[in-house]
Amino acid sequence: RTVRARALVNAAGPWVDRVLRDRLGVATTKHVRMVKGSHIVVPRQFDGEQAYILQNPDRRIVFVIPYEQDFTLIGTTDVPWTSDPGQVEISPEEIRYLCDSVNRYFHKPIAPSDVVWSYAGVRPLYDDAAQNASAVTRDYVLDVDVPDGVSGATPGGAPLLSIFGGKITTYRRLAEHALEKLAPYLPVVTGAGWTADQPLPGGDLGPGGFDAVLERLRADAPFLPERTAWRLARNYGTRAWAIIGDARKMADLGEEFGAGLTAREVDYLLREEWAETADDILWRRSRLGLHVGRDDAARLERYVNARRTGAPGPSGQAPIAMAS
Ligand SMILES: Cc1cc2nc3c(=O)[nH]c(=O)nc-3n(C[C@H](O)[C@H](O)[C@H](O)COP(=O)(O)OP(=O)(O)OC[C@H]3O[C@@H](n4cnc5c(N)ncnc54)[C@H](O)[C@@H]3O)c2cc1C
Repeated sequence: RTVRARALVNAAGPWVDRVLRDRLGVATTKHVRMVKGSHIVVPRQFDGEQAYILQNPDRRIVFVIPYEQDFTLIGTTDVPWTSDPGQVEISPEEIRYLCDSVNRYFHKPIAPSDVVWSYAGVRPLYDDAAQNASAVTRDYVLDVDVPDGVSGATPGGAPLLSIFGGKITTYRRLAEHALEKLAPYLPVVTGAGWTADQPLPGGDLGPGGFDAVLERLRADAPFLPERTAWRLARNYGTRAWAIIGDARKMADLGEEFGAGLTAREVDYLLREEWAETADDILWRRSRLGLHVGRDDAARLERYVNARRTGAPGPSGQAPIAMAS
């Protein structure tokens, strides 16, 4: 299939170099440096909502954060990575390093055998030639490659914007900055950035913020267990109402898969948040995988497959149309 576009944005994260080189055949002097970071999750280590920042002898810091109500999250590491970013996983040395960090400060020691889950990712950092992986800049760099003679109205070539580096925390500024870079080639982009005051979907919490939203959700859906109400308010903000809809009792939310996850929430994630598999739901759109048992996860997988292949939803809703 041929897709025509006025501009192309290469936001492939750790793969940005490869997309440029292998897919688009564009030479660039800018590159990302891949630095693996890993986290471990252990049963809750302390009471309270506070997080800790531990100073390590190697001058790095490690965070210890309350996680998913029953757990503690510990991370992260900085390990140079040169292999396929899709194949990354935590090493035994990283697990040991994170346990040692905690044991230097906490009375209650932890061991690798306490780790209930871990995850690792590759940071696509802009290569500023720093010697040490921890010292590489966390700023982003935007690069526009403009074929000869391209203007907003010129067919036959499109500007290509590549994003090197970046952080989730700078996503909004980065997105505005990207459009500023592309504006000369896209007549439709006019005016100054407007995102500073715009809430993200579900983030229009109103006066009273999160506490008021939770209070309203409890009042509108008194049948929800407290943990589920809190989780829905925290994960979805005002979009929680798109999940509970007209439900008047727990059974109206359809089949339960453990930890308060119901068919209505699953349908919402398939429909609105591009989830395609049970793993997407349990690990990528949420961390419910930490709480849901194996049998429930298998039941969820069967439900997701059935919904994707035409079975009706909890209240007879139509099958979920999936993007191909
Ligand atoms: C361990 C770790 C800890 C981090 N901690 C923080 C933090 O505390 N705060 C913070 O702000 N940021 C943090 N980050 C950074 C943050 O995760 C990234 O900056 C962010 O995910 C970048 O988003 P992105 O959309 O640019 O890239 P990505 O999330 O990497 O997405 C790139 C996408 O491109 C897709 N892709 C690749 N090739 C192709 C292709 N050929 N065609 C189509 N699609 C393709 C990939 O599948 C992927 O989905 C951390 C990262 C790691 C690894």
